[in-house]
Amino acid sequence: MEFIVSKFGGSSVATSEKLKQIVHILGLNSQRRCVVLSAPGKSETFSVKVTDLLIEITNTALSGKKTDATLQEIKNRYLNIYEPLGISRGRLDEVLEKLDQRLLAPKDNPEKFRDLIVASGEDIHNQLFADYLNTTGIKATYISPKDAGLIVTPDFGDAQPIEEVEMKMASLKKICAEQVVVFPGFFGYTAEGDIATFSRGGSDLTGAIVAEAIDAAEYENWSDVDGIFSAHPKMVENPAQITALTYKEMRELSYIGFNVLHEEAVKPIMRKKIPIRLRNTNNTDNPGTLIAYERLPDERDVIGVASGGGYCSFTLQKFLMNREKGFGRKILSILENMDLSYEHCPSGVDNISVILEQDQLKPETVNQIIRKIGDELTPDEIKTEFGIALVSVVGEGLLHKVGVLAQAANALAKAGVNIKMVNQGSSEISIIFGIDASDEKKAVNALYKELF
Ligand code: ASP
Repeated sequence: MEFIVSKFGGSSVATSEKLKQIVHILGLNSQRRCVVLSAPGKSETFSVKVTDLLIEITNTALSGKKTDATLQEIKNRYLNIYEPLGISRGRLDEVLEKLDQRLLAPKDNPEKFRDLIVASGEDIHNQLFADYLNTTGIKATYISPKDAGLIVTPDFGDAQPIEEVEMKMASLKKICAEQVVVFPGFFGYTAEGDIATFSRGGSDLTGAIVAEAIDAAEYENWSDVDGIFSAHPKMVENPAQITALTYKEMRELSYIGFNVLHEEAVKPIMRKKIPIRLRNTNNTDNPGTLIAYERLPDERDVIGVASGGGYCSFTLQKFLMNREKGFGRKILSILENMDLSYEHCPSGVDNISVILEQDQLKPETVNQIIRKIGDELTPDEIKTEFGIALVSVVGEGLLHKVGVLAQAANALAKAGVNIKMVNQGSSEISIIFGIDASDEKKAVNALYKELF
């Protein structure tokens, strides 16, 4: 039998009731044999995620101050969840005691210490959840990433699985055949045996790594939304839910505005072409959104409209620029040498623009860029523009459909939105418009109305 990996995010695991719901969900499909939980997130009663409390306690411990109050607050979160589920106080104290011990660990490498503490959120939760599953009659076992072979690079706070991780974790599938595996999200072990966490939201990555290792039939990612929508609900009223989209479309949508999955989680999944299904823990009747290698051609040509503000552009004008060799390379090198990443670089006959995320710039950086461009490229004119929004029309159907660009541009024109830039990537699955940030909502609505 092929198994399904079910990863549950912080808000889906924050209370006893939510954990009961997970038991219900597991019961609905016998292929669900591998569960990955995040640490408890926010709930109606608790406004802080356990991971954030753990970051707080790390900082307190590193500064040599007393950690008692936060430690008790963290422990209370688990007591609050598991005591009503019948886990004995003795067992809870035994598992929670590990956090006391970890707080005594050496602090000479603050990042390493931080990861040891912060990973406890998932580690404790998954150990206790396996206990709870057993009390409900589901035979389950907690598997430590160390025993499973989830080896990661020693980049504390931003670890990556090592190349051969899938091979090292091969025995996991056999365990799934016998019982439900409960696997903690968010961290692995370095070759030296230290705990190292992924970046924030990294339990998604754990789920993907585990799915790859056991050759899963599907990777389910459970949260508190029904799936992905064709436009951001903050921009468009009641946007349609997307039934299925491809990995590539998802990448394009999450590039601006759509917060779907941890970016790195798609890599292991794509290698094996394992479908991902986003599901809502609180609404099991909704089949969610399927993200797969391919989707049916009869589904929509355009799958979504994404947008995001906070971009700026540097536009250079130089007569006979088209004959000058290395012009584009030189601009990009200036940015690279200043450790800045650029998003787009549209060009005309005698002009070229680079579009960057505004956040990475300081006032002095802007002037440095202008000076360096002036010195090295001697353009006739340099124009800077801030407050640009990018709006992207995404869909595999753009590859073969005629006239989407015209249709979209027309809709923007009718809505009175001035287009500053258009970029159709070479993959031809997205068209990106640069517009004034104040027009973002108007533009998204116009495109959505026109294309859906
Ligand atoms: N608990 C971690 C975080 O809040 C990891 C995760 O939930 O994915 O970032």
